[in-house]
Amino acid sequence: MEVVKQISELKKVLKPLRGHSKSVSLVPTMGALHQGHIHLVKQARHESDLVVVSIFVNPIQFNNPSDLAQYPRTLSADLKLLEDAGVDLVFVPENSEMYPSEVQVAFRFGALEEVLEGAFRPGHFNGVAIVVSKLFHIIQPDLAYFGQKDLQQVSVIRRLVKDLQFDLQVRVVPTVRETDGLALSSRNLRLSPEQRLQALSLYKCLESAKSELLKGNAWFDTKKQLEGGFDHSKELRLEYLELVDLDDFRPAEKRKPELKQGICIAAYVGEVRLIDNIILD
Ligand code: AMP
Repeated sequence: MEVVKQISELKKVLKPLRGHSKSVSLVPTMGALHQGHIHLVKQARHESDLVVVSIFVNPIQFNNPSDLAQYPRTLSADLKLLEDAGVDLVFVPENSEMYPSEVQVAFRFGALEEVLEGAFRPGHFNGVAIVVSKLFHIIQPDLAYFGQKDLQQVSVIRRLVKDLQFDLQVRVVPTVRETDGLALSSRNLRLSPEQRLQALSLYKCLESAKSELLKGNAWFDTKKQLEGGFDHSKELRLEYLELVDLDDFRPAEKRKPELKQGICIAAYVGEVRLIDNIILD
């Protein structure tokens, strides 16, 4: 496994391989890797000749400076996990490599960026789109892997690929969870043991919401009841709980079995902001 820090070096390694018509996959990450990331990597390994993983804590997608400063960084453990998973190339750029000058272009995603993560994290999807576009340009993958864990981000990436006609396929991998249901997340490393237990409320809330809806109960009542469960604890602060239509991510008022819908949640456990979602089949 080769680890490169510079774009020029990365291109030099990739060029001859591309000439031998090898398919290249890219798994963009921010490091502090866990089995969720490795699941993406394994799928990429299965479907392509050459697997490239990027590890870059992208400063411009953080709207909260303390979240950026405290984002876990575990590079040597990450590299060991990637080596064991059979990755060929790891791209670990410095900030100055990705942002030699301040970026002036900006992306707008219309209605998609006005709801949920877009509304609560202004500028977040612009930052994601800029870094992912840069990675696509630099690496020119045939396949790019993203997790369902960041469901709205998947829609943003699909829009980006469509509008800019990137010549690649987007692959989406289901959310990997702990045995009790907690979605794996790099931010879980910041939770104390008590907070770790509280964090499970996100998944429990999604499961209850789904089962109430599938029983035919109204979303308005279900949401109100579940939101109530968060009110009593300052350690566990709900930001949103929404039923959404997955084609445009607009919050929906009721279950529509004929449409693809999901339930999305974001909540703070102490200072750590977590998100999760569940798709209604
Ligand atoms: P991150 O390092 O958090 O930016 O995540 C990198 C990629 O891994 C994103 O496409 C995430 O959606 C995906 N990912 C993060 N957590 C999980 C998980 N628990 N299961 C599956 N994919 C995940």
